[in-house]
Amino acid sequence: MKIKADFSDLWDSVKRMGSHNVEFDITAEHSDDLELDAELSSTAGRDVVLDDLNTDNGVLSVEGRQVLLFIPDHGRNIDEVLAGREEGRKFHVADCRTLESMREQKRFDRYKATYNIGGKFQIYGVSYADGIKREGEIELHVCKNCLSYLNYQGYCGAIGAAKMEIYKQFSIAEFLSTYSTLFKNMPAQHQLADLGGYSDNWKEISDRYRASVNFRCESCKVDLNAHPGFLHTHHINGNKHENHTANLMALCLDCHRKQPKHGYMRVTHDSMVTINQLRKEQGQLEASAGWDQVIRLADKALDGLLRNYASKGMLPPEVGYEILGADDEIVAELELAWPTSKRGIAISEIDLKAANELGWHVLTLGDALRSMNG
Ligand SMILES: [Zn+2]
Ligand SMILES: [Zn+2]
Ligand SMILES: [Zn+2]
Repeated sequence: MKIKADFSDLWDSVKRMGSHNVEFDITAEHSDDLELDAELSSTAGRDVVLDDLNTDNGVLSVEGRQVLLFIPDHGRNIDEVLAGREEGRKFHVADCRTLESMREQKRFDRYKATYNIGGKFQIYGVSYADGIKREGEIELHVCKNCLSYLNYQGYCGAIGAAKMEIYKQFSIAEFLSTYSTLFKNMPAQHQLADLGGYSDNWKEISDRYRASVNFRCESCKVDLNAHPGFLHTHHINGNKHENHTANLMALCLDCHRKQPKHGYMRVTHDSMVTINQLRKEQGQLEASAGWDQVIRLADKALDGLLRNYASKGMLPPEVGYEILGADDEIVAELELAWPTSKRGIAISEIDLKAANELGWHVLTLGDALRSMNG
């Protein structure tokens, strides 16, 4: 298969990430990956069968990439859906009960996977009126069972209009950003957003501004002198050319991705762990923090779970807890921990295993979500 996409932006961002020593030669193995990403980033998506789909952490992935699932075949309704008179089939983002019953009925082969963030999906069907096959690209809506399953943005606890807003305002980009720490393979940068559009001297302006606030995040206050690359300069009004001080704000990677319309941003698990370690060392994240602080500063992927726990009156956990060994060495790093009962949640399997070997009872996010929905 020939791939027309321009990958120069991707290589640029790889270089910016500091992987100068990594040599990229497009071997047969690598071009398989490129083909996979080309399909997954398209509005047509990639055929998936049940065996391809991983639901371990509660959201959906194919070969390490987070995906949405949709059914392109709209059957006899195609005219109504293409004309916007009827809503199309919902797309899935989590291991919800609709998906489970589909799986039981073995209707799974009808799904396609995509991580295209444009919101349009390629659908088709055979017209009821004239029996002719039609196809087109339209917007589809998210499955409400998926929102419930993840308690996305507090969906389960929301009522009336507020609940409707979470459904209506659902953004695929924001959704993928929320769970980005769970995945090693990020969608290629060039698929995500227009990262250009800055003034020519932007780097200079940004460096000067970040120095003026002593490399400290203006939201959570974490000091990033040791990791200046984790501190971004954000435009408050969204206009990348309005560079006067009143329109600028220095934000750490995590606070930056939580800004509205920043769904294109990805944060890896490693950088999230580092940021929360620094916050802890510097006292912005207290061990005995209340629910508000826990929900504000914990990894966004845990947000739905945390809101559920808070609503049940559970004690707030410690965020970014380190289990120490006999020589005070760090044995495991947990996303959330209730140290007195030796319970916790970990994103990394290695940390989970290490903790459980020491007599802890640590769950993955997926297991915690399954028990929340059980
Ligand atoms: Zn669903
Ligand atoms: Zn911050
Ligand atoms: Zn920004």
